[in-house]
Amino acid sequence: MNYYSLNKSASNVNFREATIKGQAPDKGLYFPETFPVIDPSVIADMEKYSKEELAFTIMHPYVGDTIDKKTLYRIVSETVNFPFPLVQVNKNMFSLELFHGPTLAFKDVGARFMSRCLGHFSQEQDEKITVLVATSGDTGGAVANGFLGVEGVEVVILYPSGKVSPVQELQLTTCGQNITALEINGSFDDCQAMVKDAFMDADLSKKLTLTSANSINVARWLPQQLYYFFAYQQWQEKGQPPIIAVPSGNFGNICAGLLAHASGLPVQHFIAACNVNDAVPQYLRSGIYEPVIAEATISNAMDVGNPSNFIRIMELFHHDFANITSQVSGYTVSDNATRKTISEVYTAYQYTLDPHGAVAYHALAAYLAQQQQQKGIFLETAHPVKFPETVEAVTGKRIDIPEETKYLFAKEKHSIQLDASFDELKAWLMEQ
Ligand SMILES: *Cc1c(COP(=O)(O)O)cnc(C)c1O
Repeated sequence: MNYYSLNKSASNVNFREATIKGQAPDKGLYFPETFPVIDPSVIADMEKYSKEELAFTIMHPYVGDTIDKKTLYRIVSETVNFPFPLVQVNKNMFSLELFHGPTLAFKDVGARFMSRCLGHFSQEQDEKITVLVATSGDTGGAVANGFLGVEGVEVVILYPSGKVSPVQELQLTTCGQNITALEINGSFDDCQAMVKDAFMDADLSKKLTLTSANSINVARWLPQQLYYFFAYQQWQEKGQPPIIAVPSGNFGNICAGLLAHASGLPVQHFIAACNVNDAVPQYLRSGIYEPVIAEATISNAMDVGNPSNFIRIMELFHHDFANITSQVSGYTVSDNATRKTISEVYTAYQYTLDPHGAVAYHALAAYLAQQQQQKGIFLETAHPVKFPETVEAVTGKRIDIPEETKYLFAKEKHSIQLDASFDELKAWLMEQ
């Protein structure tokens, strides 16, 4: 499988190059040349597959011969070595819990897959690879954990000082080894702009092999398809495929789901659930796409004004508005509605939502209210303990910290403080 740049002027590359480069030299996002067609017998007999077998079957066409089969099998097995349970919440709504990985959010899968692929590729070359990534919270922890100890790869994470939750900050500042946290005196948008400038800088690209670990990187984006296969594997009513609601920010996750569907996975309809940062739901209503300036909300991982994967969704549907809207609906959910949803679902079903899952739950419930007899899945993308202030205030109940996370609180934070200026970042990187 080769990948082309959505800006159409860079040359096509294989999976290895797309992963190492992150973004094409013409600044476009890489996109697969074709969509693999899943063998219908795999769909029909999916329960017979283990998670590992299924993950290998789905990922192999995308990786092609850039990684030998045995190594790829090991990589996907390590990527999905925790549960992805589908939990029934009420009569017609199910939660796909994607927070059972090491950093308690769904980004673990993409980060684990990408880190292992990059580690494998770096063994084949002498140069060290430097991963540069900006985080609004969850990406940093997942990337730090996924890349910790990977030889030949240095990871530099930029995060906005004081704007991530305590668990999130510990996850990205306590790793040590090949992981460095830069605490930026500014906003997430500042961090993202500094990273973008770094990729464009000629001096830095001469000195370092820089790549990004955001969902623009195909190795982080593509394995997110696996959630949708794991969901379908556990779906009881195969004759009536699910409606799936995805809490969306940069739109990498839902775009991966749409790709799985394009490859043959049965899904009845997708719902893009956003907080007030709703450029895409607005587009789905009006046909006009206008990026917004991101506003801070209680579902902070979705505070994105100009989602980078929207362009991939457009490509997937050949820029055909009627085609997109026949398969995807958009919903905008306010912070008040999100809090109310957390409270109501806790009271009625004793199920604790995190703010991101609550946005998706709310959108799915609104959609199902218009559809008799339908059933759906919402993706629960983070453990509620990552957002204790919001969730505990609404439910009035303390959230127990999972055993796997307790060790973090005994660790010491290490970060390097920088002003929100590209020159400071550049000076620091040039000394590494
Ligand atoms: C990153 C994130 C999202 C948004 O996912 P995208 O792929 O950027 O749309 C949703 N929920 C949580 C908890 C996240 O960390």
